[in-house]
Amino acid sequence: MRKVVLEGPRRLSIVEAPVPEPDIGEVLIQVEATAICGTDRHIYTGGTPVNYPVVQGHEVTGVVREIGAGVNALRVGDSVVVDPNLTCGNCQRCILGKENLCSNIDLMGREVDGVLREYLTVPQNNAFKLPEGASFIESTLIQPLSTVVHAQQLADVKPTESVVVLGAGATGLMHIQICSLAGGHPLIAVGRSQWKLDLALQMGADEAVSAREVDPVAEVLKLTDGQGADVVVEAVGSPKTVQQALEMVKPGGRLIGFGISPEPLPELNLYRMYLVEGRLIFPRATTRAAFHQTVELVASGRLDLAPLITHQLTLDDASEAFRVVEEKQSQVLRAVMTPAG
Ligand SMILES: [Zn+2]
Ligand SMILES: [Zn+2]
Repeated sequence: MRKVVLEGPRRLSIVEAPVPEPDIGEVLIQVEATAICGTDRHIYTGGTPVNYPVVQGHEVTGVVREIGAGVNALRVGDSVVVDPNLTCGNCQRCILGKENLCSNIDLMGREVDGVLREYLTVPQNNAFKLPEGASFIESTLIQPLSTVVHAQQLADVKPTESVVVLGAGATGLMHIQICSLAGGHPLIAVGRSQWKLDLALQMGADEAVSAREVDPVAEVLKLTDGQGADVVVEAVGSPKTVQQALEMVKPGGRLIGFGISPEPLPELNLYRMYLVEGRLIFPRATTRAAFHQTVELVASGRLDLAPLITHQLTLDDASEAFRVVEEKQSQVLRAVMTPAG
């Protein structure tokens, strides 16, 4: 089988390797589709340090082809989506249901080999059965969506609470959809590309603010009677947008730092958060519970995920996929790779 190995920053190669054997409690998955996101981009460019060489990627769907001894939750032939966070299950935080904070957590494609390959093995607990007839390509979005669902559970948007989502990328548009289901109003999307803002409106936003054309802070204050928003979701992670998010929080409101990356945020002024007694929440990854709930949510058919897949390539085009994700951010929501052309 083939796998996509990162040998150093921006150095990918396609390597032949034997198909792995499932260990006790593991399943062997034949990959149907993988997607790459901002986390993969940070690893690819060297912004997130990793031990080279590492197989990239953590968003994947496929079919179970073999099961190891002791596997009872899945069968050969099941379609699955993978939760790529490998957790110990035994530390205090795992026991408390906060596996996302496990002290021994490894993310596939970062601390351990990832999913950009034709076959992979994972513990059965990390493979979630897909609903009947689900698209393998769209279902690669379940993993990032589960991090949005987890973040939204912490944000706890209540009906008629005003919400701003800064950033209209794939996860920003997922936040819009979940906030819309929660009854957030007005629901304001802020972005830079008009076609992404149009999608935000289509996906439930009441207002779309172009950060290219107006000052988004002034515009949000205008749209909220000078108050700011009850909930501000920052889904970009740049110093500028994080500062803008801080300036948009309503007195007593909360800021969800969803776009946080390893990049430092110099000269951030937190004084407004003091003035408004704001709450800062930095959600990390997802929990098993949120992953399960996300699979159910997608099965319910209440979300519009297809428009989030903008690029489709094959595994052999991995270098091109990463180039697109790095250089054409204004044109990309999600780039998906299938094993063969
Ligand atoms: Zn991701
Ligand atoms: Zn643990």
